[in-house]
Amino acid sequence: MQNNMQNNLINWYHQYHRQFPWRETENPYFIWISEIMLQQTTTEAVIPYFNRFLTTFPTITDLATASLEDVYKLWEGLGYYRRAKHIHETAKIIVHQYNGIFPNTHKEILALKGIGPYTAGAICSIAYHMPTPAIDGNVLRIISRQYLLKDNIAETKTQKHITSIVAELLMGYDASAFNQGLMDLGATICRPLNPKCDQCPIQKTCLAYQNNQQKVLPINIKNIKHKELHYITGIITYQDQFLLFQNPPGLLENLYGFVQYECESPYRFQEEFENQYHLPLSIVSYIQDIKHVFTHRTWHMHIYHFVLDKPIKGLYTLDDIHNLPLSTAHLKVLKSFLKHMK
Ligand code: SF4
Repeated sequence: MQNNMQNNLINWYHQYHRQFPWRETENPYFIWISEIMLQQTTTEAVIPYFNRFLTTFPTITDLATASLEDVYKLWEGLGYYRRAKHIHETAKIIVHQYNGIFPNTHKEILALKGIGPYTAGAICSIAYHMPTPAIDGNVLRIISRQYLLKDNIAETKTQKHITSIVAELLMGYDASAFNQGLMDLGATICRPLNPKCDQCPIQKTCLAYQNNQQKVLPINIKNIKHKELHYITGIITYQDQFLLFQNPPGLLENLYGFVQYECESPYRFQEEFENQYHLPLSIVSYIQDIKHVFTHRTWHMHIYHFVLDKPIKGLYTLDDIHNLPLSTAHLKVLKSFLKHMK
């Protein structure tokens, strides 16, 4: 069974794989950047960011010597900005510890900031052809179906079991084509809902298909506590300028955003603002409600327009804002305000 599966998947991958700019290279730096960008973001959305990023920073040294603001600017709109901060820090470490050359052992790569087991496995297999598993949701799903595994893939012990199955499957095969074949199969054929088993290159070895369980598996029961947060988000203006602040360490670190308080009314917002800034604020109008979803929290932003009657630190014109890294959530807020004012 195993031989058939690997060969069928690898042959299919060579014939039908999806074309992406990061598949035209085995440069580990490029593969690393693509894998980080692809976390939480679709392949189509990543393509222009990937091209722009590597045209601006063609080497690890170029990235390491750039300012964090420049890196954030190129990341603007991709979200999850912590990724950008980590790759910038990691590039500096690679310059200092490895002379700007991407390390080439699994242990060293896994030790780099922002690189977990999946990314380390993907870089090692794609750039260096090492037999390292790269286990993500696609692989957990495909292997559960192939082997009719009825364990919950949200649990660590199931993930470990699947990792050991893939490690065994990889032995003696081209790990780059195998791992990327699983990625493509999961994205295009062995989809979470309604898998296209009639087009599947590894249908013959699929126990879920043989037992008509492909629409049941995998079992994936998560127990993540997801927080719903409600904010009054203030577009605070003084003449043609907007009040922004730069986020402290934590969520959206260093990115600029509008002032917002976790409260239920714009009048409460006024009080909070006056307590913090010691300046009065007038309410002009309600703008819109916007939702922004992060991994473990959802922001419900109830947007209001306020005006200041005196200038304070932190005011920026629209032209200034164009050059500042704004969080994705607050870019949406700004767009909604500008649309409202038209
Ligand atoms: S036969 Fe169906 S369920 Fe099995 S691996 Fe292929 S697409 Fe997935």
